[in-house]
Amino acid sequence: MAVERTFSMIKPDATERNLVGAITTMIEDSGLRIIASRRTRMTQEKAAEFYGVHSERPFFQSLCDFMCSGPIIVQVLEGENAVKKNREIMGATNPEDAEEGTIRKKHAVSLEKNSVHGSDSLENAAIEIEHFFSENEIHP
Ligand code: ADP
Ligand code: MG
Repeated sequence: MAVERTFSMIKPDATERNLVGAITTMIEDSGLRIIASRRTRMTQEKAAEFYGVHSERPFFQSLCDFMCSGPIIVQVLEGENAVKKNREIMGATNPEDAEEGTIRKKHAVSLEKNSVHGSDSLENAAIEIEHFFSENEIHP
């Protein structure tokens, strides 16, 4: 198994409900290590770039508005198969479909306000980490 890095975000619906610690604990309990972390805010430009693959989808503007509506926590996670493992502990995009014990099952409020983001591939993980962190901010 390979040690990988992935990018994680705690979304505004979760920071608003004071769930940063609860979600961070679920990440750490999975064995993944948080090797970089920062509280920040999205801008419309950054949200549109970050979610560029969804720019033609009907929910795109609402998603960008939501992502800019409050603070977010951006994190780099490291561990064995980190990309897949993080997607597993997040649960399905729609919390109604998410498995018991996942972050989205426990904390998400809707399909849009689903509390966390996680990279869907190793390639996207590298791109998304670069969006938010320089190498000297990452401390394994
Ligand atoms: P994931 O975050 O699980 O990788 P996607 O990449 O498909 O999911 O979508 C990105 C984000 O856009 C989702 O996490 C969710 O916040 C939002 N989203 C996805 N599909 C919809 C939808 N049909 N309606 C509203 N928001 C959506
Ligand atoms: Mg996605």
